Amino acid sequence: MTAIRCSEIRKVYPRGVDALGPVSLTIDEGEFVSLLGPSGCGKSTLLRIIAGLERPSAGEIVIGTRTRPSSGGIGFVFQEPTLMPWASVRDNVRLPLRLTHDMSAASLARVDDLLARVGLAEFAEAYPRELSGGMKMRVSLARALVTDPDILLLDEPFAALDEITRFRLNNDLLALWRDLGKTVVFVTHSVFESVFLSQRVVVLTARPGQISSEHRIDAPEP
Ligand code: ADP
Ligand code: ADP
Repeated sequence: MTAIRCSEIRKVYPRGVDALGPVSLTIDEGEFVSLLGPSGCGKSTLLRIIAGLERPSAGEIVIGTRTRPSSGGIGFVFQEPTLMPWASVRDNVRLPLRLTHDMSAASLARVDDLLARVGLAEFAEAYPRELSGGMKMRVSLARALVTDPDILLLDEPFAALDEITRFRLNNDLLALWRDLGKTVVFVTHSVFESVFLSQRVVVLTARPGQISSEHRIDAPEP
């Protein structure tokens, strides 16, 4: 089944910035795809279009069978963890459920399940200021997954972290993907990260949005 289909997507910002495209890309359900390319080639723009945060100037995007993503259907992780400083780790992860008025037992149980999966069970009552950069990013990952979305989008999530923390988080993200079975689109400018993590690397060139090549990779070692 197709999870995401982009057909001839283009984005031109005001003042004529030709940011992206045309790009055509199909991503299957459960696939882990990296978008790799230099700064400014339109990776974030493409991700925001997939998320429904921005409209393409031209072209069509289909998420599953819908032409617009549903609210719980997509989780988004930004480079900045953007946690609420006045709320505990647990309340930060719970926030998307509050916003969608989802207080079902299954969803509330997912909060603590995800905190355990990202290794933060003991930090549920802690506040963001008490956490390291890596731990904040883990909270951000848990929050993005709390609505049980079909699709997880990550925009250079680990770029600000030191190499060891980054490597740990890569491993943890892979474990989450294997256990939870999400469609993942991961934006990075790290060749290492893209090859380590994903089943397919889509390379965008500095010429805005143009796909220069696609590489399929054997499934990562278990
Ligand atoms: P990448 O994520 O690959 O670094 P972006 O998608 O952030 O690339 O940006 C692609 C191009 O679009 C850049 O030239 C950038 O300056 C421009 N751009 C991105 N967002 C906006 C915006 N909101 N308004 C105007 N120009 C933008
Ligand atoms: P990471 O960022 O990958 O979680 P760190 O090197 O920052 O790794 O932290 C290693 C471990 O030290 C963490 O898993 C956590 O258990 C503990 N730790 C880090 N920062 C704090 C803190 N501010 N308070 C309590 N424990 C911490």
